[in-house]
Amino acid sequence: MTVAEDREQRTEDRVLGGSAAPLSRNCRPAATKPLSSVLCPLSSELRGTLSHDVPMSKYTSWRAGGSAERMYHPAGLDDLLVFLRSLPPDEPLHAVGLGSNLLVRDGGLRGTVLMLHGALNALHLELDGSVYAEAGVPGAKLARFAAMHDLCGAEFFAGIPGTLGGMLAMNAGCYGSETWEKVLRVQTVNRHGEVHVRMKEDYEIGYRHVERIEDRGSRIEKRGCVPQSSIPDPRSPEIFVAAWLQFARGDGETARQEIKALLNKRIASQPLNLPNAGSVFRNPPGDYAARLIERCGLKGKQTGGAQVSEKHANFIVNTGEASAADIENLINEVQNTVERQTGIRLHPEVKIIGEYPSNHG
Ligand SMILES: Cc1cc2nc3c(=O)[nH]c(=O)nc-3n(C[C@H](O)[C@H](O)[C@H](O)COP(=O)(O)OP(=O)(O)OC[C@H]3O[C@@H](n4cnc5c(N)ncnc54)[C@H](O)[C@@H]3O)c2cc1C
Repeated sequence: MTVAEDREQRTEDRVLGGSAAPLSRNCRPAATKPLSSVLCPLSSELRGTLSHDVPMSKYTSWRAGGSAERMYHPAGLDDLLVFLRSLPPDEPLHAVGLGSNLLVRDGGLRGTVLMLHGALNALHLELDGSVYAEAGVPGAKLARFAAMHDLCGAEFFAGIPGTLGGMLAMNAGCYGSETWEKVLRVQTVNRHGEVHVRMKEDYEIGYRHVERIEDRGSRIEKRGCVPQSSIPDPRSPEIFVAAWLQFARGDGETARQEIKALLNKRIASQPLNLPNAGSVFRNPPGDYAARLIERCGLKGKQTGGAQVSEKHANFIVNTGEASAADIENLINEVQNTVERQTGIRLHPEVKIIGEYPSNHG
């Protein structure tokens, strides 16, 4: 197929809902609703790639789980906005970065996954010395960029295998630093494709917790419903698309050495040779989830292909063929055993989304 034919085919796929376009990785042919029935006529302006029935195991660090009904890789921020404006208001949406904190149930995800990694990549210094980074920028790239510009305090990002968007959503952190400590303001987009700049004060920020204060009311109203989407409320759903971050001036070489030291520390303490999603549970106040799990004799505990890591008790690894159900069942078992033996209920840090398979008991 020539480039022109390829482009034509891709345009047709985008507009008519054909099979996976070449830009998309690891996709199977369309098996669900055609694109034409999902997008409004604005879709002819789209430059990204929409694929159907895409296995999320290829896009999550656990390498397990079901398929996304649809997946959109925007060509950039403008394209993401056009796409969002094209969607029907009830389309479930799921923002995904590097999938390093995500378990998608084996029954898959309804609606559309917005893949921001590889799409929103801008990264530059502003005149005031702050760093502007788009949501798809990986932590390692951000840390290296800051060091290259003699800024310090961004080193910890290097050890977190997620995107800035995912780190903002999770307030990811390690070794005494957290993402939002560095945030001056963020840029967000809602499901109607409207862009906002929000201040730190607009959010309730805590340990692995970030919530827009305005959204809290609607969540409380909706309590009791199981959200089908990670962007569930049409009044207030927002995706992080960029942030302005501030770091202290320092010595780039020292920052680079610090990055190396942090990465070595991780290699020594984490089971990085097997698929995992980092720490499964949040640390309870005044204690460590890993310590409690180990104390309960759960290291090495296995359910199907999922195993509590022998190297780090708060990691669950995929030993090869784990299903999302194996992982979720093991999470539940660890949670129940720790609560039974210690009286402390651990709360998952990882996000578990999607549908149970139809044969789920
Ligand atoms: C080996 C390993 C080590 C890890 N170490 C750490 C650690 O030290 N500290 C730590 O905090 N975490 C750690 N993690 C977990 C994970 O890397 C972080 O939570 C990271 O922030 C997730 O980023 P992501 O882009 O992969 O997000 P995803 O996993 O893709 O998504 C996570 C959540 O964020 C939401 N989200 C993603 N992008 C956006 C966006 N642009 N706008 C709105 N919501 C969005 C998703 O909907 C989902 O709810 C580790 C994971 C692994 C595999």
